[in-house]
Amino acid sequence: MPTVSTIRGPVDVEALGQTLMHEHVFVVATEHLENYGRGAWWDEEFRVADAIRKLNAVAAKGVRTIVDPTVWGLGRYIPRIQRIAAEVPDLHIIPATGIYSYDELPHQYEHRGPGLVLDMPEPMAEDFVRDLTVGIADTGVKAAFLKCVVEQNGLTAGVERICRAVAQAHVRTGAPITVHTNSFTQSGVIALDLFAKEGVDLTKVVIGHAGDSNDLDYLMRLADTGAILGMDRFGLDLYNPTAQRVATIAALCERGYADRMVLSHDAACFMDYFGGAWDDAVGATAPNWRYDHIHDDVLPALRESGVTAEQIDRMLVFNPRRYFS
Ligand SMILES: [Zn+2]
Repeated sequence: MPTVSTIRGPVDVEALGQTLMHEHVFVVATEHLENYGRGAWWDEEFRVADAIRKLNAVAAKGVRTIVDPTVWGLGRYIPRIQRIAAEVPDLHIIPATGIYSYDELPHQYEHRGPGLVLDMPEPMAEDFVRDLTVGIADTGVKAAFLKCVVEQNGLTAGVERICRAVAQAHVRTGAPITVHTNSFTQSGVIALDLFAKEGVDLTKVVIGHAGDSNDLDYLMRLADTGAILGMDRFGLDLYNPTAQRVATIAALCERGYADRMVLSHDAACFMDYFGGAWDDAVGATAPNWRYDHIHDDVLPALRESGVTAEQIDRMLVFNPRRYFS
């Protein structure tokens, strides 16, 4: 049986169980935290304990795995996640590599690469492959999948280079990809087109945030390439309310697409986008944006809409297992 890398080490894919395919533990930029957070809005011990409590609570609902696409640009810091994972014994956390940028390339890659000042093979691809095959820094933890972004500005020079490096790392290692997309500009089409040209196996691609769209033609066009639709922002009603997200999934199940969808919230225990006001901001604007909304509210609503237990199993268990196999 194939194994998948998690924060605590390799796990048999058969043991992944119910899997939420896009959840963050923390979104906290290291430079923000180290310069403005400590002594102000960041209390390390409080936040670690809070994460342990929230993750144990979702494990108690039956979730066995969360897939965490927190990469450079979102504040990936594996030692903190290792500390938390050690206290959440019933939940696997799957780490990622890649770069989260809507526009620009990090300056650290600007002058290195094919045809650049330091003429060399694409250093991003080298770094991603190292994360996937050797491990992330000195943590001993290997990333299990790749993450990039195609947002409303489409393939800017920076985004295109990052996405091509992600595709190359996929071709070299077989690691699957999750791409953040903008469903309102339908940027999933652009992402899949670029991946196809780079020789990516599109059945190993999750189109992140596809579930923000209720346009069945767009969603079926993506899924018909073999790619997986990330119905992954449950609780973010400002992009698409839960009732509509549920109706769209039910309609796609009816058309035979249950094996092309995965479920998640894109939630986090803490995000620094709101500084210290995170808990209040979420409570006021998106009270259902939490790891257990799917089990508490969405699964009953899906069943009521005619989605079968077998189809729910596909989206929560079988499709994630196939993606990592
Ligand atoms: Zn996310």
